[in-house]
Amino acid sequence: LLRATGIRKAFGQREVLRGVGVDLATHEVVALIGASGSGKSTLLRCLNLLEPIDDGQIFLGDEDISDPRVDANRVRARFGAVFQAYNLFPHLSVLDNVTLASRVVHRMPRAAAEDRAMGLLTRVGLLEHAREHPDRLSGGQQQRAAIARAIATDPEVLFLDEITSALDPELVGEVLELVRSLADEGATILMATHEMAFARDVANRVLFLDEGVVVEEGPPAEVLAAPREARTRAFLSRFT
Ligand code: ATP
Ligand code: MG
Repeated sequence: LLRATGIRKAFGQREVLRGVGVDLATHEVVALIGASGSGKSTLLRCLNLLEPIDDGQIFLGDEDISDPRVDANRVRARFGAVFQAYNLFPHLSVLDNVTLASRVVHRMPRAAAEDRAMGLLTRVGLLEHAREHPDRLSGGQQQRAAIARAIATDPEVLFLDEITSALDPELVGEVLELVRSLADEGATILMATHEMAFARDVANRVLFLDEGVVVEEGPPAEVLAAPREARTRAFLSRFT
């Protein structure tokens, strides 16, 4: 579904991605792991067309979405994304946050968008908070609302960038449970995460990024439990 090859990205003199390839099949869940600064967020932002790439190609289905002539907003309407924090628009209610893209980008009538959003908010356990502003919610509730917003438009690919790393430990579980249920229902997900246990349980494949290069990739049982590369072993040893 999503295939990137030879992705290069530099900020000034610093090459952050040095020829990265990613392949994401429909219904696949791929976990992106790697040390802080290894380029995970940059890669997600490049694939999401939030950041221009210096070299390489990105295909969504048969379409080369890295072609500069491509309308990035049109492509991004087919994606959903949740980041570490500050995902929600603070001046909008939770409900308006969830319906915004449906109404503005996908031109769904308000009543239909709200119907659907109320269903999603029920599902993520936030129905009673629909009319509140995000600052009234806990971090875990905000991230669940952000996920509801990201899936409101039925995205083909969901990008999750360390969506639990800003949360208090007791709130992490509720957010990961929601991601797990989306995965079980067949969502296509590329997620950067430091939650190794979660990656092992939920991901079909793990990709280890080190200094802008994919050093190792494969099923979690291989990459996480029996890494072949010394760099992967060194990275994982910090989690035990
Ligand atoms: P973390 O686990 O801390 O989130 P990461 O793997 O997501 O790390 P990135 O955020 O992709 O790492 O950053 C990779 C490198 O690129 C870092 O050295 C960072 O300082 C640099 N970088 C990222 N975005 C920019 C930017 N907009 N301008 C300049 N440098 C940037
Ligand atoms: Mg990051």
